[in-house]
Amino acid sequence: MIKLSQPQIPEEAISDVVSILRNGQLVHGEYCNEFEKELADYLGVKHTLLVSSGTAALHVSLLALGIGPGDAVIVPDFTFTATANVVEMAGAKTVIVDVEETSYNLDPVKLEEKIKSWNGSEQLKAIMPVLEFGNPTNLKRYREIANHYGLLLIEDAACALGASDGELKVGSVGELGCFSFHPRKTLTTGEGGAITTNDSALYEQASLIRNHGMTRTDKGVEFKRIGLNYRLTNFQAAIGRRILPSLDKWISTRRQLASYYTDSLKPLEAAGMLKLPEIHDGHSLQTYMIVLNEKFNRDDVIVALKERGIEANLGAQSMTTLGLFSKVNAQSCSVGSNLYRKGLALPLHEHLDFDDISKVVASLICELK
Ligand SMILES: *Cc1c(COP(=O)(O)O)cnc(C)c1O
Repeated sequence: MIKLSQPQIPEEAISDVVSILRNGQLVHGEYCNEFEKELADYLGVKHTLLVSSGTAALHVSLLALGIGPGDAVIVPDFTFTATANVVEMAGAKTVIVDVEETSYNLDPVKLEEKIKSWNGSEQLKAIMPVLEFGNPTNLKRYREIANHYGLLLIEDAACALGASDGELKVGSVGELGCFSFHPRKTLTTGEGGAITTNDSALYEQASLIRNHGMTRTDKGVEFKRIGLNYRLTNFQAAIGRRILPSLDKWISTRRQLASYYTDSLKPLEAAGMLKLPEIHDGHSLQTYMIVLNEKFNRDDVIVALKERGIEANLGAQSMTTLGLFSKVNAQSCSVGSNLYRKGLALPLHEHLDFDDISKVVASLICELK
């Protein structure tokens, strides 16, 4: 079976985990502190804070910014539901804006239209774009738009660790950046996540929220604010530390495989069977998603590929289509809802080679004929 994704935990990570389990500190400890420093170095940011998941990273970010009831946050229509869920869980209102047809990222034109025409009773506070599947397209635009309209920028970079737009690393552009280490992402610790920021006051608030609002002083433990427990374990951090040195090599393999997909699938695009993604050079693709022509049933194609030994899946959800969130613009996200219906995620991970990709492409050609 050619798998959609395939996490690989290095042997040294397994030894580290075993030794921590035998006699180490289990929750937040030395490995967490070291991994935070290494991640901050890798991303070129002042602060990194490990948390228990990408969802926790997003939730803590909103709380650290003081976003809650009476506020509104813009999220893209096409994403994983966590992006919109956390806004609602923080007590704020999600405002859903459509995405671009080929980058799959929040559409900057529609974003600006929405900001300009905002007349809701809530105060528009922040934009939370997703660097979908590891594609950093528009990141600079989002920063400019946020600055121009006096909004905060939270990057949902859950699946975009290692991506960059020129000199700008994903995670270093927003007030806060959020990453996930779920097994479906390139660097995994099982569950896990991280928050990045260059703002020391925000870092302070986020670290308090992560750990019950608690801090240790000479006088003992002090409770400074209301908080949660979103800590990562020490043994999960040990896994992340062993993977991080390989990350750039893995990303480079993923880039080669992605461009091989693009070259091989161009004839199918020319024949009108599918649309290919437009991906920024600085991507760190977690998923290679194509969009099938209207005439194909995506779910049938997934089943047919499985019979040929290839695991494929849908890419992400459309927030308006799910019907769980604000219905303000329920009719208007035609691009996101089409990506949800016709998007097909193909196998992409660092243990594949060009032969595997050729096999996927050949199978797809057979199925779409
Ligand atoms: C994976 C993902 C999340 C959630 O991360 P978890 O670690 O699974 O909580 C949030 N947003 C996006 C865009 C994701 O891809």
